[in-house]
Amino acid sequence: MDLGIAGKSAIVCAASKGLGKGCALALAREGVAVTISARGEEALAATAEEIRSETGVSVVALACDVTTVKGRAALLAVCPNPDILINNAGGPPAGDFRDFTLEDWQAAVNANMLSPIEMIKATVDGMLERGFGRIVNITSAAVRSPIDELCLSNGARCGLTGFVAGLSRKTIGRNVTINNLLPGPFDTDRLRGNIAHRAKVAGKELAEMTTIAAANNPAGRFGTVEEFGATCAFMCSAHTGFMTGQQIMMDGGAFTGTM
Ligand code: NAP
Repeated sequence: MDLGIAGKSAIVCAASKGLGKGCALALAREGVAVTISARGEEALAATAEEIRSETGVSVVALACDVTTVKGRAALLAVCPNPDILINNAGGPPAGDFRDFTLEDWQAAVNANMLSPIEMIKATVDGMLERGFGRIVNITSAAVRSPIDELCLSNGARCGLTGFVAGLSRKTIGRNVTINNLLPGPFDTDRLRGNIAHRAKVAGKELAEMTTIAAANNPAGRFGTVEEFGATCAFMCSAHTGFMTGQQIMMDGGAFTGTM
């Protein structure tokens, strides 16, 4: 299927590794010019070169922290009018809620709720004027089914979800859609870190805990960043103009609700 977005431009936040990288590569494969960001320069430059050499599209890489005012301003200065925005940032740490301070909560809300809202605020009016826009927020399966040790993520991401539920109905009339893509377990550094935390708490070896976690998923494995990126690219396609405000779960069927 031709996704109908060749020649469009995208900002993909937090994209030197993992899910963000998967999204940037999938969009580039569809002919979308991508601007990618991450804090670490080395991995970002390597990812930019990888995407460029495989797809031949324009790839701009900007090392910045997307959870800061300065970082977002720098990113928007190099790509002020994106047709597509993929919001993403690192997830908050795992732990018992009794151990988290007010500052920990403020950092989680800033990174996983307010930063994406600020990026939407800066780009959505241009999309509305041009009559095309696709915004995908990478959130988490924890929005629908809370994960015990990720209480910071459970809380902060639900705030973003509530905001998007309202705004997405106001933009679709001008072909600007806003949807959330909810990863379950995907094979990335972040997942490996979370499993290491669980292994430590349970007093198990990391390898054993990893095998158990994969086997416990109905798919019997973790998701791949390629699968995640391809789904994200489809959500950004010309064919999804009638879909907005949705929670698209990719968790191998782990969430067992009927709807
Ligand atoms: P990852 O493999 O650790 O990759 C994170 C990427 O984001 C890296 O490129 C990292 O580069 C960048 N990044 C982190 N903080 C940033 C910041 N403040 N500004 C700019 N770039 C930043 O993580 P992932 O698994 O892809 O996870 C992405 C998001 O999905 C996270 O919020 C995570 O909590 C959520 N999630 C993941 C899973 C999963 O199974 N993987 C499941 C549910 C939710 P630098 O460190 O160099 O900045």
